[in-house]
Amino acid sequence: MIPFENCIPYDRVMNDIYVPQCPYCKQENVLLPLRPDELPDIQGGKKRLVIFPCCHARVTVIETDSDYLLTTKKVPRF
Ligand SMILES: [Zn+2]
Repeated sequence: MIPFENCIPYDRVMNDIYVPQCPYCKQENVLLPLRPDELPDIQGGKKRLVIFPCCHARVTVIETDSDYLLTTKKVPRF
């Protein structure tokens, strides 16, 4: 069971991964420095530091599914 408060929803568009809205600074359609072909590595147990380009928030992604990135920290809700 994935703890929902640690999840960031994302969208995959072609070979890019976007978040519809940054949970830290609320900017919309943020392109993450993460490629879809890295997702299987994360699912295989590899941690991945992702730095949001909008506000330089750092999150460590430890699991993912087709809709969410699971991070090690609680994500702000708004
Ligand atoms: Zn941001």
